[in-house]
Amino acid sequence: MQIETRSYEVAELRLDGLKLRPIETSDAQDIYAYACQKKVTRYLLWNEHRNLAETMRFIELTAQLNESQKQMDWAIEDTSAGRMIGTVGAMARSASGEVMEIGYVLNPVYWNRGIMTRVVQAVSGYLFRNTLCHRIFARAVTENLASIGVLENCGFVKEGVQRKGSKVKEEWRDTVSYALLKEDWEAMQPKPVQEGWRKIRAAKCFAFDMDGTVYLGDDVLPGAIELVGYLRRNGVRPVFLTNNSSRSVDTYVTRLNGMGFGVAREDILSSGQAAAGYLLRHFPGKRVYVMGNQNLIDEIASFGIEVVEKDAQVVLTGFDTTLNYEKLTVTCDYVRAGLPYIATHPDLNCPVKDGFIPDLGAMTALIEKSAGRLPDVVIGKPYGEIARYLLERTGLRKEEVVMVGDRLYTDIATGVRFGMPTVLVLSGETKREQLENSTIQPDLVLGGVDELLEGLSR
Ligand SMILES: [Mg+2]
Repeated sequence: MQIETRSYEVAELRLDGLKLRPIETSDAQDIYAYACQKKVTRYLLWNEHRNLAETMRFIELTAQLNESQKQMDWAIEDTSAGRMIGTVGAMARSASGEVMEIGYVLNPVYWNRGIMTRVVQAVSGYLFRNTLCHRIFARAVTENLASIGVLENCGFVKEGVQRKGSKVKEEWRDTVSYALLKEDWEAMQPKPVQEGWRKIRAAKCFAFDMDGTVYLGDDVLPGAIELVGYLRRNGVRPVFLTNNSSRSVDTYVTRLNGMGFGVAREDILSSGQAAAGYLLRHFPGKRVYVMGNQNLIDEIASFGIEVVEKDAQVVLTGFDTTLNYEKLTVTCDYVRAGLPYIATHPDLNCPVKDGFIPDLGAMTALIEKSAGRLPDVVIGKPYGEIARYLLERTGLRKEEVVMVGDRLYTDIATGVRFGMPTVLVLSGETKREQLENSTIQPDLVLGGVDELLEGLSR
């Protein structure tokens, strides 16, 4: 087949190692070579690429639609190999293009390298910056977990599953739909540094994560004690947040004071306390079964909540380092019976000196396998309930409380989702490279809390 070379204009986008450029008719053979493979066609939501002529028609049609400016398509080129490895495009789903649907295909040789996440981020940014689009829609067949992962990594939110939503290769398949709103995308973009400092200087409370932020294992991190002192002297309240519901507040008071922080009980905020706040608000007067250490049971009871073994009306699970088979059985029975089911936090593992120990998230998976349900609500970071409780306890507005932490997907995600200013410190888990590809962007990125002190006192 003779292929004429012609290109169709869309703006070229450059990413590290990749180029998004106009599709050319000479790309047809490359596209056909991977797009007709069974493992690809299994997931395609359209029926092209059964032969080379069809792929050519696909490119021609794409070109006409691009000219009508109701559609934009790019070839994804690996710049080091100098070859085209996929396509990405967006098509108007409303009259003037306020809603666009994004679609993409990648050569299987390049799967699982994070390429499509970077491409979808770049194209989403292009659409929001340069077109009228304010909502990007996307669909995938429900089995296509890789594509669903790309959308979730790019900040798309699941809207629902359509039973037999698309006819693929003569067969009706279930599809899941996702969408990204322009305002949510804007909230995820890196913030100008000056703007970040302005927000942080206006705050009345700093909520610190502990491990990796103010201490690392048993060692206080540089500047941490001085920063806490500086904040207090300037009328700004420091508080310390923990997802760990296995230790008591007193344990943290003793630990922090042993390091020299000079804290009181009211300066510590745990996911167990936030869970108690949630129970009081949503299930006042109800009897609660608690799967947790004695510390958690005492904490919940100290709020005046009736903690019971039998005839519970609500079940709360926490990080239980005294968990046994009997407690697991009782918990699964209650969950299976359909009681409101709340978990204090989602962490899968808890870091300890020599590695990790299984945390509540791992127990939640076990309960799900037995009882067939996930928690109705998870309280701790990165979910909103712990932030809501923090505002309730401090009596402040969200703009007045800064989240400071070393983990993007818990500490910073909580602040970003809840509209609080955020500071990421690189003294713990997160490395600077991870920031580049993350949809969660803090207001400020600093090496450690010593730089925060330096910036505030400047
Ligand atoms: Mg931490």
